[in-house]
Amino acid sequence: MRLVLATRNSAKAGEMKRILARLLPDWEILDLNSFPPFPEPEETADTYAGNARIKAVASAQATGELCLADDAGLEIAALGGAPGVHSRRFGGEDLPFPEKMRLVLEKLDGIPPERRQARFRCAVAIADSEGWQQVVEATCDGFIAEEPRGEGGFGYDPIFYYPNLGKTFGELTADEKDSVSHRGKVLKLAAEALRRWPGGATIAELTRSGPAEE
Ligand code: IMP
Repeated sequence: MRLVLATRNSAKAGEMKRILARLLPDWEILDLNSFPPFPEPEETADTYAGNARIKAVASAQATGELCLADDAGLEIAALGGAPGVHSRRFGGEDLPFPEKMRLVLEKLDGIPPERRQARFRCAVAIADSEGWQQVVEATCDGFIAEEPRGEGGFGYDPIFYYPNLGKTFGELTADEKDSVSHRGKVLKLAAEALRRWPGGATIAELTRSGPAEE
């Protein structure tokens, strides 16, 4: 079986391939860099699941392949759940991550450790060219650190403190992050769905029943 990850972001594709290679050892896993460019759909939904579904369906239609898309974000309780679904654009689309993290830390200035709760949330949508699709979702709870620590991972990892391991995600090994992260958890659920694909609902059914994940 073959699966195409609906992303051109090589850090994210690499992390997903590493996790899926263990869960689906017999599968060939590619990403969109192996396919000719096509117009990327706008992520216009206001939920992770909705945006993941937009990306998975557009990629399945453009490539004719079974596609998997993820959409994730960081929710900070003291900021009312921001940056949330807008995590990638926080502070401006082109603002580099060290500065996005500095902006988060500035906004949390003076807030004590116990009130710095944060949660990564990740939705994964799977879609094929026949219109079958499924969405799964998972979270990972932690706190925003006082300062960035560690060089590992990507995005907001250096400021996401994971208390059970006493480290930020930036300080974890790849295996440690995969075993506890929102993406590791959600891809386990996605792999179960993929092993018995197509076991999801059709687009028509989803339209009728509304977003299954909310
Ligand atoms: P995306 O929409 O899945 O690309 O993710 C939205 C934003 O959340 C991106 O800016 C990511 O850097 C950030 N993000 C998602 N997952 C993670 C993670 O595992 N670690 C750090 N940041 C993440």
